[in-house]
Amino acid sequence: MKPTYSMQTVATDEVVPKSRRVYFEVFGCQMNKLDAELMLEGMMQRGYQLVHDPAEAGVILYNTCSVRERAEERAVMRMTSFKRRKMEEPDLILGLTGCVAQHKQEELSDRAPWIDLIIGTREFDRLPDLIDEARGESTSLLATDMDSPLEFVRQRNLGPQPWHAYVSVMRGCDMVCTYCIVPTTRGKEVSRPPEVILDEVRRLADEGVKEITFLGQTVNSYGKRLGAGIGLDTLLRGVEEIDGIHRCHFITSHPRFMRPKLIQAMADCSKVMNYLHLPVQSGSDSMLARMKRTYDRSFYLQSIERLREKMPDITLATDFIVGFPGETDAEFEDSLTLVEEVGFDHGYVFQYSPRPGTVSADHLQDDIDLEIKKERNHALLEALGKSGKSRNERFLGRKVEVIAEGTSKSDDTRWAGRARDHRTVIWPANDDEKPGSFVVVEVDRTSAATLYGKRVEGPSETPILPPEMRS
Ligand code: SF4
Repeated sequence: MKPTYSMQTVATDEVVPKSRRVYFEVFGCQMNKLDAELMLEGMMQRGYQLVHDPAEAGVILYNTCSVRERAEERAVMRMTSFKRRKMEEPDLILGLTGCVAQHKQEELSDRAPWIDLIIGTREFDRLPDLIDEARGESTSLLATDMDSPLEFVRQRNLGPQPWHAYVSVMRGCDMVCTYCIVPTTRGKEVSRPPEVILDEVRRLADEGVKEITFLGQTVNSYGKRLGAGIGLDTLLRGVEEIDGIHRCHFITSHPRFMRPKLIQAMADCSKVMNYLHLPVQSGSDSMLARMKRTYDRSFYLQSIERLREKMPDITLATDFIVGFPGETDAEFEDSLTLVEEVGFDHGYVFQYSPRPGTVSADHLQDDIDLEIKKERNHALLEALGKSGKSRNERFLGRKVEVIAEGTSKSDDTRWAGRARDHRTVIWPANDDEKPGSFVVVEVDRTSAATLYGKRVEGPSETPILPPEMRS
């Protein structure tokens, strides 16, 4: 597996010594990517420079993810590929950060004592100091305290797109979904104060960021333990007042916390994107109970109904798990019928596989045959594709505002970008296309996941409202 995340390199003529050059591989979810950006920023403040070739680096870091199978094996294998170099170059610093480092700290330090640093999910703000401490040590240095306050004041956006930034609003998760390792690797839920978050958004706007994505494992439960009245709606309304930010959305939401005042803020705030990702995981009440998701099908459907009352055209995405222990044909059928009942715009399907350390891995038998998992995966994707295709057709003939991202992956004569509801939009490239600019595309063709058309306005540095939104 190749790392998919490429952070921005800051151009500089300064030549820094090898000991201050860092090579960083990043895997996993958006939270992992943002954590890597924050680690890199802390290192850059102390004179480190990012390089894209490990041979040029004196510090090699690997930010790990526990979600995929055999993550520990892969992390050790990757570090092992640098072992010989470590023998020849004792000053080289090798570090594992992230979820696997948190979850497998003891095993890792026993199996690979030549790894200098094992840094968990709540102590990475100390990374530059920890590197200094690790220099000259002969055993792994562990920094995996889950109660660490994790303090950082972010000044810049190092994400791959200068106009978009992730902003973490909370850490950890208080839920107990039986298949999930997050509560173990990222600890209890802790929300950041709203004024700290909104200050960060203001600094990002000053730097040219136009769109932000608020991040949290259960982002819509934001505000717990911060005092009465503070919630994700506080942040959405705060962003509405920040000049320069034109779009905002949030991931990942939990159905339990789609409360009326959040829905009202989504409907009221013009910068909130017309899009919600609300993982359901299953359409069956008995499955949801076994997964300990804390809601049932009718609760989920009521949330969707409330949402569509206020935002009738909202784009809805979801996640399903197929082949969770004990899933019967009838239970799976409930997931299929839910797709039709909700009319999702988009969805992801995951085949269950046990993750060591989770309740389902330890207490439930992984008893669904792989072939059945594959069949259910296929059937559900087909249902979601059909639903997405018919939902996309309503865009035919419409003009949609898009932030241009770059050339299309499959055809460099075309450009791709994101509409206000997060849909991918593709159009034939003009000579003046510019990443991060706003354009309007008139849609003349749709597929299950994408809108196609021609550019009719733009590019512009500022948003262009589509005609139907102009008064
Ligand atoms: S809500 Fe459930 S699935 Fe999501 S991070 Fe928390 S425990 Fe994991």
